[in-house]
Amino acid sequence: MPQKVVTRFAPSPTGYLHIGGARTALFNWLFARGNDGAFLLRIEDTDRARSTPEATQAILDGMAWLGLDHDGEAISQAARAERHAEVAHQMLAAGAAYKCFSTQEEIQAFREAARAEGRSTLFQSPWRDADPATHPDAPFALRIKAPRDGATVIRDAVQGDVTIRNDQLDDMVLLRSDGSPVYMLAVAVDDHDMGVTHVIRGDDHLNNAARQMLIYEAMGWPLPVYAHIPLIHGPDGKKLSKRHGALGVAEYRDMGYPASGMRNYLARLGWSHGDAEFFTDAEAREWFDLDGIGKSPARFDFKKLDN
Ligand code: GLU
Repeated sequence: MPQKVVTRFAPSPTGYLHIGGARTALFNWLFARGNDGAFLLRIEDTDRARSTPEATQAILDGMAWLGLDHDGEAISQAARAERHAEVAHQMLAAGAAYKCFSTQEEIQAFREAARAEGRSTLFQSPWRDADPATHPDAPFALRIKAPRDGATVIRDAVQGDVTIRNDQLDDMVLLRSDGSPVYMLAVAVDDHDMGVTHVIRGDDHLNNAARQMLIYEAMGWPLPVYAHIPLIHGPDGKKLSKRHGALGVAEYRDMGYPASGMRNYLARLGWSHGDAEFFTDAEAREWFDLDGIGKSPARFDFKKLDN
């Protein structure tokens, strides 16, 4: 029996729900609902300084207005920090991670020397292959032992095969010296633990996928299907910004736009199904597929919303 589809929307609660986020949520929701799957919500609140409860509420309100109901409770990423650290320590025990005692000053000095000599400035820790017997009694970060040779290939359902040379991936930090997990680890662990089968998100996260894959591989976890959607541009082809019109979903609600029209508009921002311009909710759920997501940036045209 094929595995049940599980998707997720994973917003960072640092502001209102904007057009791009709403489109990502909608695509994940449509894909789950059209495949008898589950659509989960994870609030990525690990950036304590920038995350606010008001932003979380604004995201929930925007999703509720659009009818994007999620299954189960919303998951707080910050609340899962212990689990993230546990995985980093499992990687350490398995030899897939190591303790790095390099200080910020040493890392900085490495980078400056590399720059001066025209070498890659990706930090290469002297602790990667150090004998634990030589470890000092000092604070350390846990770093992943990333492969040095070969390439990591992201088999992306939208972008095709994207190859990233492994010598362009550094031994990223998994746990900082204060024991706190980094964002990249949190995302990989959460997606795995939540049973996410399809990661559908903006293509600004494409490079992160290669790093997240290294964690999956080190843990022996099956990879999800990745689908990185091109970001939305304004009608002039430039990166979407406020000068193109209101970007907050709530602003359209407050202007009196119907949720169904907004959803129809968002669905067509980067996805198409033949020549269909308008479709019912049932049709959208039935027709939505990853193949219909375009490879070039969709254009958000405020005026078209009026039609
Ligand atoms: N929290 C990220 C964002 O808001 C999304 C991360 C992800 O989908 O993996 O851009």
